[in-house]
Amino acid sequence: MTIRDLSISPSSTPSLPPSLSDLVVERVGFGLFVLDREMNVLMWNRFMQDHSGVVAADVIGRSVFERFPDLPRAWLTRKVESVFQLGSFAFSSWEQRPYLFRFDHDRPITGGVDYMQQDCTFMPLMREREVIAVCVTISDVTHVSVMQREREDAVAKLREYADRDGLTGIANRRYFEGRLADEFARWQRYGGDISVLLFDLDHFKKINDEFGHAAGDTVLRAMSQRVAQVVRKQDVFGRFGGEEFALLLPCTPLDDALHVAEKIRHTISDAPVEVQGVVVPVTASVGAAAARPGAAGYEVMINEADAALYSAKRQGRNRAIALGCEFS
Ligand code: GH3
Ligand code: MG
Ligand code: MG
Repeated sequence: MTIRDLSISPSSTPSLPPSLSDLVVERVGFGLFVLDREMNVLMWNRFMQDHSGVVAADVIGRSVFERFPDLPRAWLTRKVESVFQLGSFAFSSWEQRPYLFRFDHDRPITGGVDYMQQDCTFMPLMREREVIAVCVTISDVTHVSVMQREREDAVAKLREYADRDGLTGIANRRYFEGRLADEFARWQRYGGDISVLLFDLDHFKKINDEFGHAAGDTVLRAMSQRVAQVVRKQDVFGRFGGEEFALLLPCTPLDDALHVAEKIRHTISDAPVEVQGVVVPVTASVGAAAARPGAAGYEVMINEADAALYSAKRQGRNRAIALGCEFS
């Protein structure tokens, strides 16, 4: 079958004025082209010309892959062939395949997409129940994809903020307790070890009183960053309340937890924090506890760590304690 046999090229008879449908096809705001079963182009509208830089005369009658070798040959051939065989519409969304043709888009660079994002439809053109050609439409959906990506980024950021403490940037209590509940449930199911540390800065009221609340905030931020740098990736470090922090240590028995507690205590006390030229000495007391078989919930372990922390305070502060054993 030749192009003229099919007579679906808009300007197939140049001597006659274009028909209304020719004008519409030419002017529509999406790409429209027609392929035969051998993947030769039978029609190519203005949108396709404008965006590809290839005029209709240069592509009509040739294989679409000749002018556009970058096209996904196997995929496109399969898609068109399936429309010929089944006689039904096919669709391809930008979410499955971001684009068919490498067309520039008119979004600023900040849009984050490389080429115009495209939805494609594959329409069977029938004559007497036989598919004689396939019409492909290309819709520019770059704005949709950019908006969707922006929305996904915003949701990811919100999720991240929801888990973080505003002042220090470390995990907040809600996130910490969620992770603790998960790890505790895993421990109940599979056994092993799990420990938790609670630590509280010593005489922090005095720091606020002497150096001001803003300096106190700076100390909290600096301390959190310092401690965050020495904890393992698998551990969860969170702000539990005002100047009280917690560290969840999965797969860690109490002895090891006490060593970690010591390390943290030293991390805090070995070097003072400098706030606007003023040297602020800081120490912390640490309470450690491990999960015990038979414990009903993680709260038991937290309460024990809290009791150990209280004991560390009573015994003079700047020390790490687990009920029954002590580092000082
Ligand atoms: P102790 O050694 O017994 O822990 O003494 P402390 O002074 O630290 O006592 P306490 O834990 O009762 O006091 C904590 C203080 O921390 C009181 C509160 O004003 C201060 N604080 C809590 N949250 C913040 C905060 O976000 N920023 C600042 N700057 N101070 C805070
Ligand atoms: Mg305190
Ligand atoms: Mg406190």
